[in-house]
Amino acid sequence: MSKQSQLNQLNAKMSACSLCALRSGCTRVVPGAGSTTAEIMFIGEAPGKKEDETGVPFVGAAGKFLDEMLGTIKLKREEVYTANVCKCRPPSNRDPLPEEVKLCWPWLLQQIQIIQPKLIVTLGRHSMERFLPGQKISQVHGHAMRRDIEGIGSQVFYTLYHPAAALYNGGMRETLIKDFKKIPKILKKIKEEK
Ligand code: URA
Repeated sequence: MSKQSQLNQLNAKMSACSLCALRSGCTRVVPGAGSTTAEIMFIGEAPGKKEDETGVPFVGAAGKFLDEMLGTIKLKREEVYTANVCKCRPPSNRDPLPEEVKLCWPWLLQQIQIIQPKLIVTLGRHSMERFLPGQKISQVHGHAMRRDIEGIGSQVFYTLYHPAAALYNGGMRETLIKDFKKIPKILKKIKEEK
């Protein structure tokens, strides 16, 4: 079965999920979007208002900023895959609870298993915490790390600040833009290692 068909099937199942209470308070499940053969997967936190309205991740202000940064490394949104650790919008955009992230994990795991990205870029600390628990984002942002994850195997992760957090914080914004520009070099190195 093609990756697209596998993702379509997965998205249909995801859309019918009611494992946690978030589903009853949001408009729709926001599974993920982009290329099924993406080399890079960007993983954020959870859908916000705009994402909840459209069903597409990163379509609000943070998404616009993400697109700008992708442009600086000559990539379009359609060439990467974007998803979140939580597929449903938390009420009033609060942080997702650890229990919600845990219940949603099998969906993200299956997305990663189908897409098999060369690089996973975590956006923000909730996404980082899922893969690199116990780390401080202020210390590990801008560093690529290879980790063995159950169900995925050996995988390279690259941690970035969340674009929504960096949007209105001058220093963090500069850091995020600088870290983002390192992505092509990291990807090249991963490909050379293989
Ligand atoms: N913030 C996220 O973490 N994900 C989105 O999809 C939108 C905003």
